[in-house]
Amino acid sequence: MLSEQEIQQFRRDLLDWFDRYRRDLPWRRTRDPYAIWISEIMLQQTRVAAVTPFYERFLKRFPDFQILAEAPEPELLSSWAGLGYYHRARNLQRAAIQMRDRGAFPHTYHEIRALPGIGEYTAAAVASIAFGLPHAAVDGNVSRVASRIFNDETDIASAAGRKHFQVLADRLLDRLRPGAFNQAMMELGATACLPKKPRCLVCPISQICESRKKATQEQRPMKKAGAKNVQEERVVFWIAEGGRILAWRRPADSRLMPGFWELPEPSQLPSASVGQRLGAFRHGITFHNYRFELHEAAAPRDLGPCEWVAMDALATMPVSTVLRKARRVVEKTRSATVRSSTASV
Ligand code: SF4
Repeated sequence: MLSEQEIQQFRRDLLDWFDRYRRDLPWRRTRDPYAIWISEIMLQQTRVAAVTPFYERFLKRFPDFQILAEAPEPELLSSWAGLGYYHRARNLQRAAIQMRDRGAFPHTYHEIRALPGIGEYTAAAVASIAFGLPHAAVDGNVSRVASRIFNDETDIASAAGRKHFQVLADRLLDRLRPGAFNQAMMELGATACLPKKPRCLVCPISQICESRKKATQEQRPMKKAGAKNVQEERVVFWIAEGGRILAWRRPADSRLMPGFWELPEPSQLPSASVGQRLGAFRHGITFHNYRFELHEAAAPRDLGPCEWVAMDALATMPVSTVLRKARRVVEKTRSATVRSSTASV
């Protein structure tokens, strides 16, 4: 167990390193709680590199909670397209409506925590970064770092483990600079204390880290075997004619991506005659890894749940990532065909 003196040293070393070397990310250039909240929601389950372009575009289109509260849903969802997990966008709007009705962004941890779509981690991150409130933000990254610093064998995936690492992180937290400290812990987990092969040689707190001293870094954190990823093969049809495409819309009460447009599968159009294979692509949703085979097909007489949709309109409609990926495959296949026919002329 680290002494109080070692913990103070740890805070100094970590914050000094963060002040010097932190990545220049757009949401670190502001103290606006609205912008910080948007970035934290986007960063849930999504990598920094994927979030950056969306964040800037989204803030340009929806610069404050009043505008976000009034946004038409299709426009909101199409601005979110590509980030996935669309319930986050819907929760953002529900929260923005609450802020508009109350006339301000909430400024205590408990008020922020009570907003739709906000868990303990996000509430602590927003409260500490935007308002300087002393709450340790603990996610999988931070738990991993804490488990190594303390060489702690507690299972980070268990409910008891999550509580335990919250207590450890609260103990480490720098209460004078909680926002910078939380970001520094996340930065350390993202750039040095990586899940596999931690980069201890460049780590600013390697002198204090108990795991490094005992050479147990690669055995921490302890994690019981979780749910295994499920592999699944699927076929989708690309049925297009006259600048239109055949697609179906998920019902408004669908558990997954309600209101989004999808490509049809063979079970939805059993009488469609299947044409050439256009390509394949992968798509992951939680524990499912899908491999989609994309085939051309001719429109059957009975269109089932599908409708013709103008291809030009897709850019402003809520369309699924599967449809977007399929469209990219089609465009790539077509441009390769044009290139090879030009070369053979
Ligand atoms: S010394 Fe290594 S294991 Fe310890 S916190 Fe730093 S990177 Fe992680």
